[in-house]
Amino acid sequence: DSRQRHVLSIQSHVVHGRVGNTAAAFPLQLLGYEVDLINSVQLSNHTGYPTFKGQVLEAAELDVLLSGLRSNSLLSNYTHILTGYIGSYSFLSKVYDFVREMKGKNPNLIYVCDPVMGDNGQMYVPNDLLPVYRERLVQIADLLTPNCYEAELLTGISIKTENDAQMAIEALLKEGAKTVVITSIELNTDDNNLILIAGNREGEKVRLSYPKIRAQFTGTGDLFTALLLGWNEHGLKVSCEKALMTMQAVLKRTQENALRLSEGKVPSAEHIELQLVRSKGDIESPPPFHSSCNH
Ligand code: ADP
Ligand code: PLP
Ligand code: ZN
Repeated sequence: DSRQRHVLSIQSHVVHGRVGNTAAAFPLQLLGYEVDLINSVQLSNHTGYPTFKGQVLEAAELDVLLSGLRSNSLLSNYTHILTGYIGSYSFLSKVYDFVREMKGKNPNLIYVCDPVMGDNGQMYVPNDLLPVYRERLVQIADLLTPNCYEAELLTGISIKTENDAQMAIEALLKEGAKTVVITSIELNTDDNNLILIAGNREGEKVRLSYPKIRAQFTGTGDLFTALLLGWNEHGLKVSCEKALMTMQAVLKRTQENALRLSEGKVPSAEHIELQLVRSKGDIESPPPFHSSCNH
């Protein structure tokens, strides 16, 4: 249909590789969205490489860009705001004020918040961002997409079982988030699967199991959240299924490519960069849900 969908995406920029804005923009564009980009950091590459160089932006730098957009009346175009990796307290606080301002002017604006803080028990942003996510951004998020560790940080609930995950989701919904998707939970079972658990205010619940691929990817959460936003209008269950199926296809292709490049050895960060351009077809038309994911 002809409705214009226009995302303002505030995430990291890397010169080389696919995380943050460089992972989110292409899929959203393929799915029919106009995408405007604000960079929260600009780095040579993601932080999983042996070194990285670049700048972390502060609130004043965000403010300058927003004031330029405001002066040209460009802020009223947005139907969605998407935020991901943010590297400073002041920047994140400014994002909160900005999203509130935007929601005040347009009650239909959809705010998608990926509370990027860390993974596998390790924080990779400053500690003082946690209370800002927990006490402010969760309250205004229409769609919140923590990984398992981030859901634990936000709720204080240690997630060991599906029931724990349900409790974490309930707690986040109670805080004000309208929909919560915990993207991957590894249970202590021997079936080698990960699960996604989601819930919304309307009481809808989704549980999907999918095969774990043995590799350490970066940018998967950023890509997943962009896909989920992209399919959002199809409802919670369908959007989770479609996003998961595209992820499976992209990650399989990425792993095969990495093993080829590393000649069977453990792939380097460079070898395991997400293969997005070659996955154009799987982004536009996700494989049907049953094929590999219906355990
Ligand atoms: P983050 O990258 O933010 O830590 P996740 O690790 O939960 O977030 O990854 C987001 C999505 O990427 C998952 O829902 C899943 O679809 C996919 N994914 C990530 N890692 C794997 C993996 N090892 N095997 C299969 N799917 C994965
Ligand atoms: N942005 C940057 C610059 C990063 O270094 C990372 C992780 O290392 C991310 C974003 C988030 O990646 P993920 O989607 O895997 O959580
Ligand atoms: Zn993430």
